[in-house]
Amino acid sequence: MPVSVCPECTEEVFVDAESEQGDTIACDECGSTLVVVGLDPIELDLRAEDESPEADKDDFDSYGYDDSY
Ligand SMILES: [Zn+2]
Repeated sequence: MPVSVCPECTEEVFVDAESEQGDTIACDECGSTLVVVGLDPIELDLRAEDESPEADKDDFDSYGYDDSY
């Protein structure tokens, strides 16, 4: 089974031999979600979990209500 290094905690992470680029795996050591960014050799990158800039634009609507009061 191929082994790579977790970019977060630098521990060895076992990667499924069937993994493909773009697959995500979890680091057993620190629990981070890692994305397979390269296969030869296997490279892992941290998945950015807290970056969703377009996700919370719904708040826009609530502004109008306070205004009309
Ligand atoms: Zn880790």
